[in-house]
Amino acid sequence: MTPIYLDSHATTPLDPRVLEAMMPFLTEQFGNAASMTHEFGRSAAEAVERARAQVAAAVGAEPDEVVFTSGATEAINLALKGLAEARGSGRIVTATTEHPATLDTCARLERRGFAIERLPVEPDGSLPVERVAAALNDETILVSLLHANNEIGVVHDIGALGALCAARGVPLHVDATQSVGKIPVRMAEWGVRLLSLSGHKVYGPKGVGALVVRRGKPRLRLKAQIDGGGHERGMRSGTLNVPGVVGLGRALELAVAEMEGEAARLAGLRDRLRARLFGALDALEENGTATNKLAHNLNVVFRFVDSVALLNAVPELAVSTGSACSSAEPAPSHVLLALGRDETEARSSVRFGLHRFTTADEIDRAADLVIAAVRELRAQSGLYMTEQDDHGSTRRDG
Ligand SMILES: *Cc1c(COP(=O)(O)O)cnc(C)c1O
Repeated sequence: MTPIYLDSHATTPLDPRVLEAMMPFLTEQFGNAASMTHEFGRSAAEAVERARAQVAAAVGAEPDEVVFTSGATEAINLALKGLAEARGSGRIVTATTEHPATLDTCARLERRGFAIERLPVEPDGSLPVERVAAALNDETILVSLLHANNEIGVVHDIGALGALCAARGVPLHVDATQSVGKIPVRMAEWGVRLLSLSGHKVYGPKGVGALVVRRGKPRLRLKAQIDGGGHERGMRSGTLNVPGVVGLGRALELAVAEMEGEAARLAGLRDRLRARLFGALDALEENGTATNKLAHNLNVVFRFVDSVALLNAVPELAVSTGSACSSAEPAPSHVLLALGRDETEARSSVRFGLHRFTTADEIDRAADLVIAAVRELRAQSGLYMTEQDDHGSTRRDG
């Protein structure tokens, strides 16, 4: 049987309606969108422009501000390195809970002589606007922050942060990979100058994304990271992935149209999962408890349980111990450590990510599987049993 998929922060299933929109461009309409001398190229170019408008509408920008890339990682690299290289020197302000695409790019820029300020977050995952305000100075060339965190779902107040950065004349780059299509994103209204997004986190295809570069004052100059034919207004050369771009546009169009209902439904299911787990098991804690978080995220510390052992005990369930990028290596999640969790707590944490096709039945089965596995693992844990004896039998959940 196919496992129950609850790892939607790593990737989402392709919506069949997105595949349907992409199909013609994988088959008969195979033209190169840069070939304007014939019908094949022109119809591909028209489809790309439709997608550009769909992406722009989803984030509150103009179509000609959209630069298609291979995904959010490339978009973030282009935003940070492109801007830093155009400026030559300066300081970038970011946070400790950012995605590796941002943290690793900042680390490379640091080795090249740029100053990087990594701001700590609160234990609930939130980032006070005053902390960002205090970090800005005359050297600051960019602020780069997540909109919604990919491990704990915490949503930063980009409206307030955008206003702050605009008032101080510092461009704000937002990694909106987890938020676009799930919660409102309003670049123009919020004063956000740069924004990265990806297709495969929003029921679109993998290998396509965009950097949205807003016009405004001062004009943002980015040094291209890929040279070639000067596609995408010289900012990103390379033949466009037309089926991918079409899929990205359609995926965002659908996500925005269905956002409200879907978020409410997923919040209901997520709350049900949380209630089942916390009702049946003791010694649990939630990671990232900021009041504003994504409706489909739940990240839980299962004390006295190693999360890798837990995941191995429930092969019927596809979940993750942290971000997909860091689960391949043994290091505990940098996000959970940034919240003040210790290594043991971080190694006892599991991230659940619900998605568009998650059903109530799947949530109930997932809860039953996890509850049974945690009880089993704890029964084998000397530490847990000792702790229970110390607290008397009332706390035992076994
Ligand atoms: C997945 C993800 C990325 C990377 O996106 P890709 O398109 O896979 O390169 C960047 N930031 C966040 C917050 C993500 O969740």
